[in-house]
Amino acid sequence: MQADPAGLPLGHLPGTRYPDARVESLDKRFPRQGNAAIERIATGFRWAEGPAYFRDGGYLLWSDIPNNRIMRWLEEDGHVSVFRTLSNYSNGNTRDREGRLITCEHDTRRVTRTELDGAITVLAERFEGKRLNAPNDVTVASDGAIWFTDPGYGIDGDYEGHKDVFELPGNVYRLDPRSGALGVAADDFVRPNGIAFSPDESRLYVVDTGITHGGPSHIRCFEVAEGRLRNSRVFTGDFAPAMSDGLRVDTAGNVWCSMGWGDPTEDGVRCYAPDGTLIGKIRLPEVCSNLCFGGRKRNRLFMTASTSVYALYVNVQGTQRP
Ligand code: MG
Repeated sequence: MQADPAGLPLGHLPGTRYPDARVESLDKRFPRQGNAAIERIATGFRWAEGPAYFRDGGYLLWSDIPNNRIMRWLEEDGHVSVFRTLSNYSNGNTRDREGRLITCEHDTRRVTRTELDGAITVLAERFEGKRLNAPNDVTVASDGAIWFTDPGYGIDGDYEGHKDVFELPGNVYRLDPRSGALGVAADDFVRPNGIAFSPDESRLYVVDTGITHGGPSHIRCFEVAEGRLRNSRVFTGDFAPAMSDGLRVDTAGNVWCSMGWGDPTEDGVRCYAPDGTLIGKIRLPEVCSNLCFGGRKRNRLFMTASTSVYALYVNVQGTQRP
């Protein structure tokens, strides 16, 4: 499990010196922790995605999609083990306001909740009688509404799910917490992907990875009012030939997004101020898929990146949503 396909050991990256030159500040607002450096905390996966941190248990979960499993890393001693197999080729994970795990599953084309006793409840698998494509990423609002994206990468082929027919466009959905009704929140994406709210939930950020299918490579921002989206605009982009995938927001409203693919010099994470200014970069040795905040003080950034998971302490806290 701790094999080393990218040729790097676990722990701090080779040549570490403070401040870590791989953590690049472009603006004084970038909340860098000067005497902290990037650590590689786990490796040996095929495509790590969907990190979610459990402060109560002191562990990080993430999906290893092609291996059809969810992994767990214990913060106390760094132990890595399989949390769930078979995971139905799970992708994005988060927690709801009661701390329960919410998971996007490619193979079963659904969103599930893992109850506190381990039972799995299906939250969404169809819209107007048609099967969802392959839900990708998810976040939960403070009112309990579950917002998720459904680009369908999991049915493009047999590596991250199974090849299957699209029955619906790539929509962004909102699952109403009271009625359980599923509604389309946005229907004009090519491939909606990472999704996160601003701290006060007045804004919703959604990545479009449409570049994989002839579309854009950017992050959009919506105003949110009474469970509906309005006033769509491009928050930042164009990332081409690179693309983002997952994102999270800190308590200062900064948007942290993964970056990778088309430009190897951009592999890692970018941080944007709420006004859209690029204020910092974290350079990783692998294509980054997603990230989340965690640690006892929510000031540790966990980054799933291709075959490995990386961590970095930063001088800001993530919002409560893991
Ligand atoms: Mg994703």
